[in-house]
Amino acid sequence: MTIQEQYELLEKTVRGYNPAADFAQIRAAFEYADKCHEGQKRKSGEPYIIHPLAVAQIVAEELKLDSESIEAALLHDVIEDTPATHEDVAKLFSPTIADLVEGVSKLTRIQYATKEDEQMENLRKMLIAMSKDIRVILIKISDRLHNMRTMEYQSPEKQKQKSLETMEIYAPISHRLGMQRIKWELEDLSLKYLDPIGYEEIVSKLDAKKAEYEAFMLRTQDQIDQRLNELNIQHIVYGRMKHPYSIYRKMFNQNKSLDEIFDLFAFRVIVENVGDCYNVLGVIHDIYKPILGRFKDYIGTPKPNGYQSLHTTVMGTDGYPFEVQIRTREMHEVAEYGVAAHWKYKQNGQGAGTEGRYEWVRRLLENQEGADAEEYIHSLKIDMFSDQVFVFTPNGDVQNLPAGATPIDFAYAVHSAVGNHMVGAKVNNRIVTFDHVLKNGDIVEILTSKAAKGPSRDWMKIAKSSEARSKIRQWFKKEKKEENIANGRAAFEAELKHCGIAMRDVTDPENLPGLLKKVSYGSLDEMYAAIGYGGFTAQKAVSRMHGELQRIAKQHQLEAQAAETAAAAKTSKQAEEPHIPAPKRVKSEQGIIVEGLDNCLVKFSKCCTPVPGDDIVGFITRGYGVSVHRADCPNASKRDDPSQSGRWIKVSWGNDTNDSYPTTLEVVCKDRSNLLLDISAALSTTNTFVLGINSRSTEDEFAIFRIEVRMRDSQQLKVLMNKLHQISGVLKVTRPAG
Ligand code: MN
Repeated sequence: MTIQEQYELLEKTVRGYNPAADFAQIRAAFEYADKCHEGQKRKSGEPYIIHPLAVAQIVAEELKLDSESIEAALLHDVIEDTPATHEDVAKLFSPTIADLVEGVSKLTRIQYATKEDEQMENLRKMLIAMSKDIRVILIKISDRLHNMRTMEYQSPEKQKQKSLETMEIYAPISHRLGMQRIKWELEDLSLKYLDPIGYEEIVSKLDAKKAEYEAFMLRTQDQIDQRLNELNIQHIVYGRMKHPYSIYRKMFNQNKSLDEIFDLFAFRVIVENVGDCYNVLGVIHDIYKPILGRFKDYIGTPKPNGYQSLHTTVMGTDGYPFEVQIRTREMHEVAEYGVAAHWKYKQNGQGAGTEGRYEWVRRLLENQEGADAEEYIHSLKIDMFSDQVFVFTPNGDVQNLPAGATPIDFAYAVHSAVGNHMVGAKVNNRIVTFDHVLKNGDIVEILTSKAAKGPSRDWMKIAKSSEARSKIRQWFKKEKKEENIANGRAAFEAELKHCGIAMRDVTDPENLPGLLKKVSYGSLDEMYAAIGYGGFTAQKAVSRMHGELQRIAKQHQLEAQAAETAAAAKTSKQAEEPHIPAPKRVKSEQGIIVEGLDNCLVKFSKCCTPVPGDDIVGFITRGYGVSVHRADCPNASKRDDPSQSGRWIKVSWGNDTNDSYPTTLEVVCKDRSNLLLDISAALSTTNTFVLGINSRSTEDEFAIFRIEVRMRDSQQLKVLMNKLHQISGVLKVTRPAG
């Protein structure tokens, strides 16, 4: 086929599914590519343009993509391999086509090295994430398919390397995008170079029985065809052999021989509607004996990549078991072409605007209806990788970082020691600043030095990943304890001041434990250190303490109120009981008649505290009026002293005595437990107004109580003294004097 013929075939193929395609532009793209690649040869010796033409043919034939994709496929190597630039392509064709070509070139530039599984998964994600437009990855896969088809001209080393890459990256991506046919071809082509002997063994065995197999397949196809025609079920039926790589895997993984593989043959029946799928299933089970446990309903429960079909395995008339897959036309297109099939549907709806670009993803997701939706979302969210960025280490490992990540995030993702000793960073071999934002596919190198001073506090603001931030915090926590405490304390004090809280309220021993509990630190220093290294903030500390301080203040206020209320209640209760009044003041002259003197100042002596009913005498003091003593007070015995005899005068209780008088009792007891309790009980049952109780213990285990009370008269006092005397252990109840 000449180049011109091959181009004609391409146009014919495109016209077959998209008569409205822009053929003038497609031809222009072909001619421009042909001119750019002029003189370049493929390894096979053919002119280079053969390759872009073949890739465009795959894009049209296998994936049925739009005009822009066909043009981009024809142009896919011009930016990478010829002097043409992005600007040239944008001007001659369109910015979108230039972006598609640039996107494919970027994927081409990535250097892969074989890695463990997790790394491979990251690489796949990176490729998908880098293909902002899904058409980029579809063209790239078509490019790879053609390169694999023509791999025989490459060196054995290159064959192995490209095959491994295809097996590990492109075949899984094709599977993920639901493009089974391309996936199989990629796998078979890769296997051919990765294990030539194994591949040959399978292929030659299949070849040896080719005639027998083909006869069997034809017979079976006829049987099914006939029965379905009799039943008037619209259908297409065809058989195929399992492809070599899946046979290889089964033989290798399950250690089976070729004869033991059940689904070496598969038949497909494609019908018009879902109802017919189940009808056909019944027919198949009627003609052939089904093998138990091999029926799978992927229509009811689709696979994560959107695959739908009924699968059953039956025993054929010649003793060959075979699988039958039954599906509708639409299910078939999705199964064979995956994403591309959805792309086609989308294409009929609207133009290639960004809006709805991922419509098919949404549609696919909606079709899942909870069938392993989790895995599906993870495997197929193309533009949903926008929150992640994938970059390379210098030795080809992929690091998965949050979008917006910087060299700081990268360094700490590699190792905290790398981050802590970082003095500079290179991206794609150029020195960059620490806040440089990393892009998909960047190769990042961190320059470290033993003499590095360690991270700066600003790094915490620059870093995007919580991992980097927490590692930086760890460093400050450990390396700079003293400094952290000082810085933390300063920040805390400033914030306290700002909120109008006094430091002494915080350090108050009564408040501090509660406050520390609020912030969950064992001591203020611990909290200062945390604020210092950034694990906690002064604002948070103060706002939590503020709440606690307010709570304490409120508590105190409530307690005071409660005490007041209780006191008020007590006072009003006593007021209701007329015989125990509680006057607040004692008028000194009241209740005492001083012989021969009216309206003189009267006060009661502290030494003997007389109450109405007691025998009393008065003593005229200098300037303080008359002091009243009990007649039996030792001080009153001095009235016989000639020098003072003139100052002792006769006094007596009048009828208008006060409601009560303070007086003191002394109780001597054998000390025992609960003594005070019993004394209190006696005071309480006699409704005694108590001013105070003092007690002291003597060395010989006696207890002496001094009880200050208010008494109406000596009669009431006598009742109280008797009551006290009855308490077990009480030896003596007296009225002290002198
Ligand atoms: Mn290429």
